[in-house]
Amino acid sequence: MNLTSYMPVRIISGTDCVKNNSDVFKSLGKKCLIVTGGSSAKKSGALSDVTSALDKCNIEYSVFDEITENPYTEDCRRAGECARNCGAEFIIGIGGGSPLDASKAVAIFATNAEMKHSDIYNMNYKNEPLPIVLVGTTSGTGSEVTGVSVLTNSDNGMKKSIGGVYARVSFCDYRYTCTMPYAVTVSTALDAFAHACESYFSSMSTDLSEIYAEKAFSLLAEGLEYLYSSKDIPDDRIREILNDASIYAGLCLNITGACFPHTVGYALTEDYGIPHGKACAAFIPDFIKICAENKPEKSQRMFDIMHTDKYSLCRMITELADINITVSAAQLEKYRTRWVDPVKNFSRTPGNFTSDTAVKLFEKFI
Ligand code: NAP
Ligand code: FE
Repeated sequence: MNLTSYMPVRIISGTDCVKNNSDVFKSLGKKCLIVTGGSSAKKSGALSDVTSALDKCNIEYSVFDEITENPYTEDCRRAGECARNCGAEFIIGIGGGSPLDASKAVAIFATNAEMKHSDIYNMNYKNEPLPIVLVGTTSGTGSEVTGVSVLTNSDNGMKKSIGGVYARVSFCDYRYTCTMPYAVTVSTALDAFAHACESYFSSMSTDLSEIYAEKAFSLLAEGLEYLYSSKDIPDDRIREILNDASIYAGLCLNITGACFPHTVGYALTEDYGIPHGKACAAFIPDFIKICAENKPEKSQRMFDIMHTDKYSLCRMITELADINITVSAAQLEKYRTRWVDPVKNFSRTPGNFTSDTAVKLFEKFI
């Protein structure tokens, strides 16, 4: 068996896990910076649980709540400056993938004052980042358990990821996801499915990553079907299923990385404002068809686990993603120069997937 893997994150999951494990914060310092978005940390109840735990441990905190969706490198640099100015000894990220990814960059900027915002992509910083604690409020990115941080370059608006920055501790309590509206719930569930699916068929997949992916498939079969047929926000049981699925999907993604849907999906977010999960899911039916041709037995295994078939699965993903955009001829030309082979996530895709194949996928939106 190939069980090669690296998972340095201490995952603490379950209802009230922040409240029941406040001691975890004690070992990290006397002062911290909480990094979050505009409202989700408050709305979800996560912020008050975290601040109660910090109060109990006599840890002082400041809050930086200016992280937007698809977080900008310059906002992360500013938050890092804020962490330095307030003497933070560790960072707590609360929110969806955007604040969690941002926190990883903030932890680096905090200890490396000389870095400009775009230097983050070089990852050759001098000083070790501050320790990071993450508290997730969506069920999609798996950022809680990956070393990845996807950041939008403030200079050119393009999304690019960095790797190898892990949380010291991640708290996973599905109750914080219960305030997500239907559209965010769908998009994040599609992101989790994209992670499991891309990981499963990646040339980097291992026995361990496949076990995680298959667990995510079985959970997502029920979660996605609920969202598809009810068109309504889920009850607690489905919320918990979706949250567990996103963590399993994050665990396999962390071993393998993604395939082409994530890379080309970034373009739909940057140019058409499509949320990340739906943007990747726009290309998942193409991915499933390629995998069915190149890896028929493995594909059948996924369909069996999900109690579905290729046609029904692709239809469900397409309808949940619900992409209504028109790509102009000029935009298509732009995409011809965007990717230059070899692209890592293209090479990991089954079959012979190249930059030309990627551009052709956008023709369906003309
Ligand atoms: P998000 O961008 O963090 O949040 C989307 C929206 O949902 C925001 O308006 C947010 O509000 C709101 N929200 C979050 N939690 C909520 C809750 N419990 N109740 C009500 N509203 C809530 O969404 P995301 O899909 O989780 O993250 C997407 C980002 O993660 C993208 O930048 C993507 O590239 C990245 N990503 C990272 C990885 C990885 O491995 N690190 C993997 C895949 C994707 P606020 O503005 O108030 O926060
Ligand atoms: Fe993703």
